[in-house]
Amino acid sequence: MRGIMRNPSRRQVLIAAAAGAVGLPPPSPARARPTQQLLWVVNQRNEELATTYKRADGGYDLNALARLQHLFRDVRENVPGPLPPMLIELLAILQESFGFDRPINLHSGYRTPRTNASIGEGASPRSYHLHGMAADIAMRGIAPLDLALAAHSISQRLGMMGIGLYNRFVHVDIGPTARWTRIGRS
Ligand SMILES: [Zn+2]
Repeated sequence: MRGIMRNPSRRQVLIAAAAGAVGLPPPSPARARPTQQLLWVVNQRNEELATTYKRADGGYDLNALARLQHLFRDVRENVPGPLPPMLIELLAILQESFGFDRPINLHSGYRTPRTNASIGEGASPRSYHLHGMAADIAMRGIAPLDLALAAHSISQRLGMMGIGLYNRFVHVDIGPTARWTRIGRS
């Protein structure tokens, strides 16, 4: 131990590690978040996945990302698209704000141009769904408005995100800040 006492930097590291080991409060809010974030999603085909998409060391778990990408695919054409980690992070933060006792129901993730066009006037030809940057989501027992408000509070902290409120779901995307409602339309 004397060797450790002569080395302040290493000593501080060890003290921090010991504090964590005995359950003392973390030294900063940033360290309070778990490193292995959880996402629990059910897609339109009732395929369900609850996964920690980060490894214990904080890096992304590529296998988990691949499984999520499959879940977020265009199920109509069975085509996988991009799934930016930023969208996953936003959805995980959103889910965390409601607790982890229910999954996110995915109404639409990635869309091919053909699927997007088939939706008609309900979908923009410049939709972020075409780039895998958007998700239409709902959560059982939570009104879409409450989901949209939770997304709004995250959006305000980030200075980004498109949020669209629909009758049965909320659209969230990782584009610039935008808000719209389509209440009364399907
Ligand atoms: Zn959408």
